[in-house]
Amino acid sequence: MDYEARREGLWRRARERELDAFVVINVERSDGANLRYLTGFTGSSGILIVSPRPLFITDSRYTEQADKEVVGLPIEETPPRWMSWLAEKLRSLGVKRVGIGAHRTSLHVFQELTQLAPGVEFVPQPGLVEDLRRVKAEEEIERIAAAARLTDEGLRWIVGRLAPGQRERDVALDLEIWFRRQGAEDAAFDLIVASGPGSAMPHYRPRERKIERGDLVLFDIGVQMDGYCSDLTRVVAVGTPPAEVREVYHLVLDANKAGLAAVRAGKPGRDVDAAARAVIANAGYGDRFGHGLGHGVGLEVHEAPGVGPVSEDALAVGNVVTIEPGVYLPGKFGVRIEDLVAVTADGCRILSSFPKDELVVL
Ligand code: ZN
Ligand code: ZN
Repeated sequence: MDYEARREGLWRRARERELDAFVVINVERSDGANLRYLTGFTGSSGILIVSPRPLFITDSRYTEQADKEVVGLPIEETPPRWMSWLAEKLRSLGVKRVGIGAHRTSLHVFQELTQLAPGVEFVPQPGLVEDLRRVKAEEEIERIAAAARLTDEGLRWIVGRLAPGQRERDVALDLEIWFRRQGAEDAAFDLIVASGPGSAMPHYRPRERKIERGDLVLFDIGVQMDGYCSDLTRVVAVGTPPAEVREVYHLVLDANKAGLAAVRAGKPGRDVDAAARAVIANAGYGDRFGHGLGHGVGLEVHEAPGVGPVSEDALAVGNVVTIEPGVYLPGKFGVRIEDLVAVTADGCRILSSFPKDELVVL
């Protein structure tokens, strides 16, 4: 990964906005993704100052790790009262207008720094680093593809041993342990295993409920590998499902395919959403698909660009996004089919490979 080129890109954008410096502040994982993107640092706390004299700052817990991970930047150690130290450092650099990430910097840090550094104006910059992260380099797409492959394998493993009587939360935990044993850094988010009526809740949390014969079980799962995330949703039936389940499954599958077919560089995210949404609306289930069609995936599992009805983003070559239509029937069941894709000039490369053409019945 060419961290220096990324920092140069950020610095160019900061100069365009007449900033003298830009600070990325990661305190106990508050902005780990941006800091990792720009430096390769994986610890929980560190600060990057991008300016004509760039600097990496961390505390004594991480100086040795920073020496190994952060290449091409001087590294300084902060004392425990890091905010007054940073304010003093910025004053000593003589900078007047300092850009600061608006998405992940807390109001507390912003207000304290403003107070501690009179003469320095902190200018919130929504999306400055996040926008750089949208277009992935080939090596980033390969990492996401590797995370997607492990996710597919994990789903095969867990579906192969799924049986009535298992508790949802045990299934989710077993899968997370399996992912970690296979080399995942972490789960990309709290894994969702939702059975029966729980599958009708798009962001369900696995509970004590035991899987019953006749249930539809929804898996929405992902891992983080080498920093990069994956995201996959499939449903499987435990025992023969009612006809309505098959009907909704094939409707959602058609919407998923319509969404995938609409993906290509230059296409507005909302048009891709509309292509899939029309399939569901035409079948009379329009009010049962409440969320956006998809989202960007990278160092974070939800990032730009958006692929929803209110998205103002257009897709570009190198974006990685999900296509995940769903139909949710409260109290009964829900179906979502989610694939991860890399956007190309004339379409997309599908990174998810778990079969979907027929509903898997166990
Ligand atoms: Zn998902
Ligand atoms: Zn998703």
